[in-house]
Amino acid sequence: MKFRASELPLTPLSLKDTISIRTGDWKYVEPFYEEKLSPCISACPVGTDVTSCIALLAKEEFQEAAKLWKESNPFPGVCGRVCPRFCERECLRQHLGGSITIHLLERFIGDLNVDIQNKSQKTGKKMAVIGSGPAGLSCAYHLSRKGYKVTLFEKEKLLGGLLRAIPSYRLPPQIVDKEIEGILKQGIDIEINKESGKDFSLEELKQQFDAICIATGLKERKLNIRGTELFNVWSGREFLKLNNDIQNKKITVIGGGDTAIDAARVALRKGSEVFVFYRRRREDMPANPYEVEEAIEEGVNIKYLSEPLRIEKCSSFLRLFLKKKADENSEFFIDTDGVVMAVGEEREMLNNEIKDTFLCGDILTQKGTVSHAIGSGKETASLIHKYFFGEETSITLPAVVESEDLNLDYFKEEYPPEEKKRDMSQRIKDFDEIYQGLTREEVIIKEATRCFGCGKCSGCDNCYVFCPDAAIFKQDGKYIIDYDHCKGCGICMEECPRGVISMRRTEK
Ligand SMILES: Cc1cc2nc3c(=O)[nH]c(=O)nc-3n(C[C@H](O)[C@H](O)[C@H](O)COP(=O)(O)OP(=O)(O)OC[C@H]3O[C@@H](n4cnc5c(N)ncnc54)[C@H](O)[C@@H]3O)c2cc1C
Repeated sequence: MKFRASELPLTPLSLKDTISIRTGDWKYVEPFYEEKLSPCISACPVGTDVTSCIALLAKEEFQEAAKLWKESNPFPGVCGRVCPRFCERECLRQHLGGSITIHLLERFIGDLNVDIQNKSQKTGKKMAVIGSGPAGLSCAYHLSRKGYKVTLFEKEKLLGGLLRAIPSYRLPPQIVDKEIEGILKQGIDIEINKESGKDFSLEELKQQFDAICIATGLKERKLNIRGTELFNVWSGREFLKLNNDIQNKKITVIGGGDTAIDAARVALRKGSEVFVFYRRRREDMPANPYEVEEAIEEGVNIKYLSEPLRIEKCSSFLRLFLKKKADENSEFFIDTDGVVMAVGEEREMLNNEIKDTFLCGDILTQKGTVSHAIGSGKETASLIHKYFFGEETSITLPAVVESEDLNLDYFKEEYPPEEKKRDMSQRIKDFDEIYQGLTREEVIIKEATRCFGCGKCSGCDNCYVFCPDAAIFKQDGKYIIDYDHCKGCGICMEECPRGVISMRRTEK
């Protein structure tokens, strides 16, 4: 049916155009851009900007990615191999194909061996750091990059602390050497074979330095049972340092942490038959679950809920007595050629009442991971800087992206590359590294481009394209909301793949 204009009912007609009518005044909620923290960054004990580094890798800007990573963590090669991967557990990609294998990208970055320069302005302050494990080295690195003159004291001949105890099939020593070299290039002085409390006292150091940081780690816990003093009964760390011939021997390990599992796998590689006794259940073991899995696969026998009672010397072997947990009458024994006691660590009593003294790493946090030690060293360096020079620019931490903040319609289901592992029959014959890293192509094509980039604007234009009121503009590569005409419909937020747009109440 057709009408003539004169037959139509009267309708209100605006004499102005839509630009001059402030339709935006109608809204009571409005969108705003807010870059958020991705869950991987929030879970990382070092706080590395993982998403920005991965975005650089995806653009093949490898050097830039490595430099950015090393701004916060000077040990990507180490952490890429041994960190328990807190980041990957939180990665939102796990809902669409599988978490990004961040450890492999980190390892790739580490293996590029990119050094970063120290361009800091000197503060004139002198710091002593005692202990050269990952915590002490990280603290020294960050202090040096803030302009402090740092001297690192280490009681051993080699720097690296417990990184040196991790067997080479998981962490080749040359990776540790290379990354320590990069740290020392920041301008750190070292004093090796110098033990505090023996070769010097804290009071003496106080005369020469403005402050001291103690990063001496934890000492091994001893089991209070009969027979631990016998020949061929070792502590976990002791055993891992030994260059002993235990071909065709039977070795028994007590414990369920990283040290116990490493001792067992080392013994296995040296040609022994290996038994591990742990007092709790498998799911309670502090060691990394995939390493327990691999140890079993390699032939280590693990018995759970078993507690050691005593060790006795028999003619040419040792007899280890145990009992089933919570059952006094369940005593049993195993005959063995050697016993490794790897039953955890404890803190040494410390008098840290001394003024201008700080702590970092395991001795402070007792977290027992390399990345926590590195993060703690970094945090203590910031604390020391704040102590001398007041507040560092305070940073309010942004919100963490949650799964529902993302629009998964914009991402395809894609799977991580398979991790290349040496065949079991080969790997138990030597101490060569078990896992291989990713190739350049795998980094760019498979992994880095799979990252959602949670919380970071990638400039995809969705907000700009979908806004029904054309109330979003682009200026110098940035999006600007025209609040005079935005009606607060929230479509931009809905269509943002990465959760960068949030809504807030409009102030009237
Ligand atoms: C066998 C083994 C396997 C491990 N595997 C893993 C793993 O896969 N992943 C993981 O994240 N973590 C692992 N860990 C734990 C990790 O190595 C530690 O949590 C981490 O090294 C702690 O760092 P730190 O710097 O606080 O202390 P440490 O690494 O213990 O370093 C302390 C340093 O201080 C020095 N020192 C001590 N006393 C003095 C003194 N009086 N004067 C001067 N110097 C002193 C020591 O010689 C040492 O170099 C493993 C540990 C072991 C033993």
